[in-house]
Amino acid sequence: MTHSQDTSATLPCPECQAGIMRQRSITYFTWLGEELITVPNFPAWVCDLCGHREYDERAIAMLNMLLNPEAGKPARRIKRAPQSDQPKRNTTHPRSTSG
Ligand SMILES: [Zn+2]
Repeated sequence: MTHSQDTSATLPCPECQAGIMRQRSITYFTWLGEELITVPNFPAWVCDLCGHREYDERAIAMLNMLLNPEAGKPARRIKRAPQSDQPKRNTTHPRSTSG
């Protein structure tokens, strides 16, 4: 009574309207300045009929964020405040003997 068929998410191809977009792992190529970046195992949707490719939006956004050298970094340099090194204190946890 159970459906043994694997119902993976599929999309109709927006290009040929006849093929089915299937999720595949491809190697994504992109240029970062003069450097060619290759990203293996990149999630993409590939049409099984015309070969139309669509990349995962979230993956692209994440990749752009990773490739952007200014992403997640403050624009200005952080000044290093003169701090005196303090030795770490060992915190001992009292162990209860009852058990
Ligand atoms: Zn297609």
